[in-house]
Amino acid sequence: MTSPNERALVTLRVVSPCEHGVEHDILELSEGAVFSFPACKDSRGNPRYHVADATHYPRTVRRR
Ligand SMILES: [Zn+2]
Repeated sequence: MTSPNERALVTLRVVSPCEHGVEHDILELSEGAVFSFPACKDSRGNPRYHVADATHYPRTVRRR
């Protein structure tokens, strides 16, 4: 049986800086979350999409 404390912890992926090396305000997201932000754009000026998965963001933190 897990303790109440342990059960309340969630694992989040550290997503800043993003896989393109751009720092941004979204610091942590849950597994598989899709995000974009204005500071990271492709060559045509559209915001890039990012996926918070283990391949791109191996660093995790545990939060209550
Ligand atoms: Zn990016």
